[in-house]
Formats: sequence, C-alpha cells, structure tokens
Amino acid sequence: MITAETIQDFTKIRESWGGQSVGFVPTMGALHAGHAKLIQTARTECDKVVLSIFVNPTQFNDASDLQKYPRTLEADLQMARECGADAVWLPNYTQLYPDDYRYKLSESDFSRKFEGAHRPGHFDGVLTVVLKLLNVARPRRAYFGEKDFQQLMLIQGMVQSLFLPITIVPVATVREPSGLAMSSRNRRLTPQELEIAPRLHAILREAGSPGEAAKELARVGFRVDYVEDFAGRRLAAAFLGEVRLIDNVLIGEQENG
Ligand code: AMP
Repeated sequence: MITAETIQDFTKIRESWGGQSVGFVPTMGALHAGHAKLIQTARTECDKVVLSIFVNPTQFNDASDLQKYPRTLEADLQMARECGADAVWLPNYTQLYPDDYRYKLSESDFSRKFEGAHRPGHFDGVLTVVLKLLNVARPRRAYFGEKDFQQLMLIQGMVQSLFLPITIVPVATVREPSGLAMSSRNRRLTPQELEIAPRLHAILREAGSPGEAAKELARVGFRVDYVEDFAGRRLAAAFLGEVRLIDNVLIGEQENG
C-alpha cells in the first residue's frame, strides 16, 4: 500500500494505473468497521482502491467539534492495509483549497433541510471537498455510507447535475451488535453515554411517528436536533452530552425484524 500527501505525488500514482478502474473511499479518518465495509466493497468491484483521509474544516460549523475530531493515523493506515487499499491519500488544506474556499459548490434546497438546517454551511463544505477529491482521484466508482443518508443523496445529485462520469455506490450502515451505528464520534462518548446511545436506533425503529420518537429520545436523555420522515427513511440527529449522533432507518424496517 502506497501513501501520498501531495496532489503531485498522488497524481503520479494515479497516472501509473492508466485505464484500470479506480474505486474511491473518501473519509475523515478515525476508521472503524463502517469505513472497512466501504473499502472492502470497493476492493471486490474495482482494480485499484484509494482511500483518502482528510478532516475537512469547511464542513464543520462548530469549531470545538473540529478540534476534538479524533485523529488516529497509524491505526487508520493499518486498517486500510488490512482491507486491501492500494493507496491512501492524505491531502492538506493548503493544497486542497488554493483559493482558501472562495469557490464553493452549494445546493440550494435539500441541503438546507434536516442536517443542513442545524449545521449551516455543512453541505457546502461537503459538496465542495468531495468535488475536489473526485476531480483529483478520477475514480470510476466512489463509495459512501447510508449512515449519512442526506449526504449520500446530495452527492448523487451533484454527480448527476454536473455530469461527472462516476458511479456513486451506497453502502448499508454498519452497526455495533447493540444497534449503535458505527461512527468516529462514538469514541468521544462516556461509558454512561455509550449505554444510552443504542437507544437512538431502537427508538427510530420502534416509534410510530417522528414526534413520538423525539419525545422518547428526550425522555431517555438525548437532546434532539430533529427527527423527520423523508423518502421512506426516518432521519435523526441528537446530542448525548457534547457528542452529536446521527442515524436513519428505513421506515417499516421494524416489520422485517
Ligand atoms: P466520515 O469519515 O465519517 O466522513 O465517513 C466516511 C464515509 O464512511 C462516509 O461515506 C460515511 O457515510 C461512511 N460511514 C461512516 N460511518 C459508517 C457506518 N457506520 N456504516 C457505513 N458507512 C459509514
């Protein structure tokens, strides 16, 4: 497995692969089994697999969330190697944002709802960085988790809208046995919060309506940002202490067990 930091070094690697199909997995690091699933899926579908690790400051609307975002590079490289990545690209802000974020991509409707309503500017940062990463990596397929369902939909929309010759591949949410969706932010939960956290998934599945779910989440100790039904999914974000968790379930999932 090769690692590259600069765009120039990464581009040299990319060019050496010629016309082979490239699968791309963009991440912010602190890798867990959810990321591993993305890499492994790419491994089975593509000739070459690239993982990027970049904690993108433009998508953080909360400075302390950015500052406290877990960084575990050595363990990340080991996991990437074990999952069969061919290259890990570790870009930095100065190289990715030569314009210091004067140019940005924004979506004016769906990105302002749900997550976007609570995290102003978040999806502008996400779409802009993903477009930059795709332009450099030039993958045939790029892998995104359903855990971030709104992000996945916005990236699919961007690819269609801008005619990018890339297939976006959704990967189902990987969960702990307790039902808690794997997330880099779970590392910041206290032992007590970790006991409550799986209730998010359970309550989204069990409640009869978003309102009922919000009420029950508050009762067990969450500070709820939103619970909404959209496109056959129930989407939610809620805080436990300082840590903001998001999750979503297929509506009707409970009927299938
Ligand atoms: P992040 O590092 O949190 O930006 O996530 C990088 C990619 O991994 C995104 O496409 C996420 O949706 C995906 N991802 C994060 N957590 C999970 C999970 N538990 N299951 C599946 N995919 C995930």
